[in-house]
Amino acid sequence: MPVHAPNRPVCRDCDGFPVVAITTGERHNDGSRVLLRVACRACHGTGHTLPASLLRAGR
Ligand SMILES: [Zn+2]
Repeated sequence: MPVHAPNRPVCRDCDGFPVVAITTGERHNDGSRVLLRVACRACHGTGHTLPASLLRAGR
């Protein structure tokens, strides 16, 4: 098993990048950009999918 392999499979929807910052085009009073953070709906921001074994165990 490769050392870098995660214990949980990486989410296929977001490819391991569950939270994306989106610029709104507006700026705060201090000049910084207003960012919206959107979490992946498939993995709920975890970046990983739940193993099938856990899903089965929950039923
Ligand atoms: Zn995801």
